[in-house]
Amino acid sequence: MTEVIEPKTVPAVKQDADYVFYELTRSICPECRRVIDAHILLRDNKVYMRKRCPRHGQFEGLVYGDAEAYTAHSKFNKPGTIPLKFSTEIDRWLST
Ligand SMILES: [Zn+2]
Repeated sequence: MTEVIEPKTVPAVKQDADYVFYELTRSICPECRRVIDAHILLRDNKVYMRKRCPRHGQFEGLVYGDAEAYTAHSKFNKPGTIPLKFSTEIDRWLST
């Protein structure tokens, strides 16, 4: 028997998401440890990370409890620096 799928109804009024997208970063899937894209979202003055693994689906977690402080601190971000000397021997670099 063929199932009839009704088309999804489109709301008459555009609705806003309950979050603001803040930045894109990279993270790992908590199940398979694969490196995946992650979105940093601001909601209810808190900071969340949302990520989706193609195999294990979507994950979301709280990463900071004060979005106002989180965004204010970002003005102190600076480019990373490679040390002049390493205290341990490097056997491999992380790929980006
Ligand atoms: Zn996964």
